[in-house]
Amino acid sequence: MSVPFLDLPAQQARIADDLRRRIAAVLEHCQFILGPEVAELEAQLASFCGAAHCVAVSSGTDALQIALMAEGVGPGDAVFLPAFTYTATAEVPLLLGATPVFCDVDPRTFQLDPAQLAARIGQVRRAGRLRPRAVIGVDLFGQPADWPALRTIAAREHLFALDDCAQSFGASLHGERLGRAADATAVSFFPSKPLGAYGDGGALFTEDAARAALYRSLRTHGEGTTRYEVLRTGMNGRLDTLQAAILLSKLTVFADELAARERIAGRYDAELSGHLDIPARVPDATSAWAIYAVLLRDAGQRSRVQDGLRTAGVPSAIYYPRPLHHQPAYRDAHDGAALPVAEDVATRILALPIHPDLTEAHVALVCATLRANL
Ligand SMILES: *Cc1c(COP(=O)(O)O)cnc(C)c1O
Repeated sequence: MSVPFLDLPAQQARIADDLRRRIAAVLEHCQFILGPEVAELEAQLASFCGAAHCVAVSSGTDALQIALMAEGVGPGDAVFLPAFTYTATAEVPLLLGATPVFCDVDPRTFQLDPAQLAARIGQVRRAGRLRPRAVIGVDLFGQPADWPALRTIAAREHLFALDDCAQSFGASLHGERLGRAADATAVSFFPSKPLGAYGDGGALFTEDAARAALYRSLRTHGEGTTRYEVLRTGMNGRLDTLQAAILLSKLTVFADELAARERIAGRYDAELSGHLDIPARVPDATSAWAIYAVLLRDAGQRSRVQDGLRTAGVPSAIYYPRPLHHQPAYRDAHDGAALPVAEDVATRILALPIHPDLTEAHVALVCATLRANL
């Protein structure tokens, strides 16, 4: 038996008829850019998470970029973000000429640590070279960041609060789905995310009608009320109609898939707790379980475990092997602060397969192999 890390063919088989009907409808009307499926998807996504406005865009990265462009973030601005996240979170402020300020994370949940954020804002204000403008909180691995605490700090410091929810659409915090926890929320539909398209895609959510209108303008070259009026520098950042049609089909099974992921995470917990550090839960939250990541003792144990899993036909992955402030592309932008938790976690973390089509037998094999290699 070999265990798939992701199983997109199995998911496709479950929705095959609806998927084909949806794709055929697009081939029939041929409105490949901003066809009717895009608005239909925006309405369904907004209602799924309770947000007032949804604007579908070309990727999660472009969602982050459009959100920061709309605030006018640029040179001289400090954008605070966790050091332990995917590269796109730091790439976007740099593309706009702003400076990413890397912050340390919680040692158990790996989410941006509000106390570290507050301390880093204080350091930047005292240094006086950059203007604190925005914080990008990341809902890492499917779980929500501590939004009430992050928003309190953002409000006190007059910062724009952007939720990088690329991995975690479908998760909830204090009984509310993510999508309205920050001033704007960016989601990714990259194929391996919990709600994935068959190509690139993303969405922005906001409660603010003026921001939503700006996002619509920015995703189409900064257009005004007519197509040939250009009000601002924008980008080509639209979600295409075929991806919207595919996502509409996938949305019909998304809630069931979230429940399946939750069940599988519970099975992992039961088989692994007491043997190693299983994922700590964010209190009063649900996870979209994009990633189920355990912590090993050290880098040596992790590489032995990974080898043992590979030999048994079990794939695993390291998210993330290097904190962003140590990446060649970003270390020149970093002020040199030590971020010990992010640095330590990167040496010991390991992601196990998790997806809705993982069977009990798969989970049992992963866990028995892991335990035998500790
Ligand atoms: C995947 C991801 C992104 C980027 O999304 P794309 O759709 O691939 O552009 C941004 N941030 C985080 C945390 C991600 O995991």
